[in-house]
Amino acid sequence: MLAHELGHHVHKDIPFLILSGTLLTTLGLFIASLALDSAVSFFSFTSVADIAAFPALMLILGAYGLLVQPLENALSRWRESMADDYALKSTGKGEAFASAFTRLANQNLGEIDPEKWVVFMFYSHPPLGERIAKAKRFASS
Ligand SMILES: [Zn+2]
Repeated sequence: MLAHELGHHVHKDIPFLILSGTLLTTLGLFIASLALDSAVSFFSFTSVADIAAFPALMLILGAYGLLVQPLENALSRWRESMADDYALKSTGKGEAFASAFTRLANQNLGEIDPEKWVVFMFYSHPPLGERIAKAKRFASS
């Protein structure tokens, strides 16, 4: 587990995720600004500061979040998978890794093999079953 966290440090994942999050948020606010301008003229609000435009802003930001969340989660799963690879290679303990994650799954009643669309939409980490299978493959290679 420590080796996994060290993998994040080695791969500079904190600055990477701060930077990617900042870029996606900036892009989202820019798109929201353009969309809100359109909504203001479409619904004849007085300006973007019109309180009546607030629900439109919330809908726009909600729609952007719905589109971008899977992308942010995919980026996160990619970096998490890299940290797992680092942990396996640096410690060489595939069996211990697999057994730790198996215990974690059992204690937390975590989903071992969730539906692919659930992973796509909501998972910031690879599913436990995938991580355990990777560790077992590593141990047997
Ligand atoms: Zn991690």
